[in-house]
Amino acid sequence: MDTENVVRCSEPDCGEPAVFKIAAPWTDGRFRELKTYGFACEEHVRDVLRSAEVRWLNYEPVRGEAVHEIGIYRYEPGKRDAELVRDSDIEESMNS
Ligand SMILES: [Zn+2]
Repeated sequence: MDTENVVRCSEPDCGEPAVFKIAAPWTDGRFRELKTYGFACEEHVRDVLRSAEVRWLNYEPVRGEAVHEIGIYRYEPGKRDAELVRDSDIEESMNS
């Protein structure tokens, strides 16, 4: 496997491969994609989500742009954004 392509946790000094992607559906009216706010390993998903939420809340969409609800997606290398599955179980555990 090509280690150069491994996406790692966004937490500084972690270095574990990411298993979650923190992202929000984004569209400019023509294109839609997941706007990435961070990547996290199992251990840091809460920390990465917190800092991601701050940036998500502070982001001001330009005209014609829309950013939807931020969520936790199961990150799988090689999968396209549209194929990633939102993990509502882990999202609920974050709220407890
Ligand atoms: Zn980590």
